[in-house]
Amino acid sequence: MLEVINLSKIFYIKINGSKEVVGCQDINFKVNKGEFLSILGPSGVGKSTILKCIYRTYIPTSGDIYYESLLFGKLNIAKISDRTMIALREKEIGYVSQFLRVIPRVTAIDLVIEPIMKKNGISYKEARDIAEELLFKLKIPKYLFDAYPSTFSGGEQQKVNIARGVIWKPRVLLLDEPTASLDIESTKIVIDLLMTLKEEGTTIVAIFHDEKLASLVSDKILRISGRSI
Ligand code: ADP
Ligand code: MG
Repeated sequence: MLEVINLSKIFYIKINGSKEVVGCQDINFKVNKGEFLSILGPSGVGKSTILKCIYRTYIPTSGDIYYESLLFGKLNIAKISDRTMIALREKEIGYVSQFLRVIPRVTAIDLVIEPIMKKNGISYKEARDIAEELLFKLKIPKYLFDAYPSTFSGGEQQKVNIARGVIWKPRVLLLDEPTASLDIESTKIVIDLLMTLKEEGTTIVAIFHDEKLASLVSDKILRISGRSI
């Protein structure tokens, strides 16, 4: 389903002249359909950079990201056009960032509704029912549904972020430390949601901080070791 070969991302930054920063280097892994792969490793080692290359927030410096798309057949995400990537983001590949990107004047429920409407073209009413059910499951109080997430706690924001990621049941879901700001009970709810998605066939790549949690949920673990500087 997804195969990453020799993926590297180097950032060229300009502070007092120019400097190269290694984002990630020589990353290799393969995930089959419906598998759950976790990425573990110390901070700064390039975990987020890997997910951002797969989601094409970053263009890799070198390496290949092969993906067997439903819409387009086998693709190399490192080489496809922006238009193809936009279609994949709407129809096949989801990404849950580490922190919710709040959009001014968009309510929590509307943030959650947006991706499912884009994918399925269902009515607002239908989408809203699905979104409400999901937010109930995540124990977001009802009075917050139509409020703006900029005022939410870190945990509430992260739940909205996760709801937005899972509502449309993407074929591939990328998650960056999805449970980092959640308590034990919420973590359990989120893990159950992810397990349900996986049973329905979603392929998952997730970064975790918690080694125990990762080994509990994953089929495979990719460990990235620290670099010597
Ligand atoms: P991790 O998620 O494992 O903590 P990251 O992937 O966020 O690590 O970062 C890996 C390295 O790449 C770090 O040294 C970070 O500073 C650098 N980096 C990440 N994104 C950028 C960027 N947009 N510009 C410059 N450097 C970056
Ligand atoms: Mg990170």
